[in-house]
Amino acid sequence: MRTSEIRSRWLDFFASKDHEIRPSVPLISPDPSILFTVAGMVPFIPYILGTEPAPWPRAASVQKCIRTNDIDNVGRTTRHGTFFQMNGNFSFGDYFKEGAIQYAWELLTTPTSAGGYGLDGDRLWMTIWEKDEVSWDYLTKTIGVDPLHVQKLPFAEISWSTGQPGPAGACCEIHYDRGPAYGPDGGPEADTAGDRFLEIWNLVFDEFVRGEGEGHDFELVGELDSTAIDTGAGLERIAFLLQDKPNMYEIDEVYPVIAAAEAMSGRAYGRGAAGPEAGAAYLDDVRMRVVADHVRSALMLIGDGVRPGNDGRGYVLRRLIRRAVRSMRLLGVDEASLPTLLTASKDVMRLSYPELEERWGTISEVAYGEEEAFRRTLTSGTTILDTAVGRARERASTAGARPLVSGQDAFELHDTYGFPIDLTLEMAAEQGVDVDEAAFRSLMDEQKERARADARAKKTGHIDVRLFQDIERSMGGGSEFLGYTEASAEA
Ligand code: ATP
Ligand code: MG
Ligand code: MG
Ligand code: MG
Repeated sequence: MRTSEIRSRWLDFFASKDHEIRPSVPLISPDPSILFTVAGMVPFIPYILGTEPAPWPRAASVQKCIRTNDIDNVGRTTRHGTFFQMNGNFSFGDYFKEGAIQYAWELLTTPTSAGGYGLDGDRLWMTIWEKDEVSWDYLTKTIGVDPLHVQKLPFAEISWSTGQPGPAGACCEIHYDRGPAYGPDGGPEADTAGDRFLEIWNLVFDEFVRGEGEGHDFELVGELDSTAIDTGAGLERIAFLLQDKPNMYEIDEVYPVIAAAEAMSGRAYGRGAAGPEAGAAYLDDVRMRVVADHVRSALMLIGDGVRPGNDGRGYVLRRLIRRAVRSMRLLGVDEASLPTLLTASKDVMRLSYPELEERWGTISEVAYGEEEAFRRTLTSGTTILDTAVGRARERASTAGARPLVSGQDAFELHDTYGFPIDLTLEMAAEQGVDVDEAAFRSLMDEQKERARADARAKKTGHIDVRLFQDIERSMGGGSEFLGYTEASAEA
């Protein structure tokens, strides 16, 4: 089943259950406290918090999401994309646990010939809060799920809240058992890697008021006047199960970019295996998956109006493009690759997002421009880095120590050649060399202090420097990676 079909079945199913079908909001989060839309519930936050009356008692959507916290998982797990689509259904004071579980079960297990996803109910596993009797009874008695497939967890392991005092509750997570080939038995609770028992759908039951606490471990100080249901199911995860693929990067909406990367690099995809023996073929596979993910994220971000920059959203976009381009280099491709890869991604994504075609002129121009700029940076910076690595090796051999690129060299790469420190670290590591990161950081701090002192000195003069800064900005000046540290911690 094509991903676009899975999406339309979701919307049709919930429309038939009287849900208001809502379009995806843009990736630039409508909630100013977060950079990106990270879940389907983001546009519904006021209705869940109860700060605004919900215009409809129930709603459903397929929401575009970006999660930068998953960036290091991309290509290495089977199931994490920086961009993905979250199918959701929501109830604002309307149906609660039983209704949400019933809908999920029905849609997942109804045969494909009757409009469902046709998953085998015997392979579904649930994790619930140990004190959630309602879910336990509904699952094991009303639906008749094998009690062994419903695992009870302490509240801290299955709770949801916004991270501050306000609505909270426990979840019911639905997992699909991919079988013994993917790991040992024992259900989702035992499967820490999440490879065998794939989490597909998270049902959040908001019914409590959260008090103070840390992370997932907090006090409950009361019950909400009006409960809410907030669910999220990964469209790509359902797709890779229904398309019988080993991971989300090989579904119809993502794989064409891998195929294009294969053709460009002349290297075959899918020959590597993970694990302690993982070799060059595995690394190539990871790189192609990273390329496919990042190119798609870049496409969708630019399509939603994000532009490459040195902080915030723009830095995330820049980092995604740069990682994709770097990965292609490591696959042996030196020429510009986005004209091929981005087009491949657009050609499949436009089926669900026709606006990509209308915006293609701008999208491609922005992306290709960023690739060109980065290719120039790489060319000049790589030579300087190689020299620094050579110097480090020389020093090490005379001192009989491990080679270490000096903080001064890393700083110069950053300051003069626009080489971000993560790139220096990554490229040095590839040559088996460390970088004196502490020294680099203190040089950065000194530079910031100098800039501050400078600004103070200028303020005492008669010229308003802000005027110059504005002019400089409007001319596109300033090649420095300001805000890099903050952005990279967040990314
Ligand atoms: P995981 O434990 O696998 O990282 P999660 O618990 O962080 O997932 P939720 O926040 O519960 O995910 O999001 C709801 C659903 O969205 C998940 O059950 C999953 O199907 C999907 N999902 C979450 N993160 C991603 C991602 N990075 N890529 C693809 N799908 C995702
Ligand atoms: Mg996660
Ligand atoms: Mg999870
Ligand atoms: Mg979850």
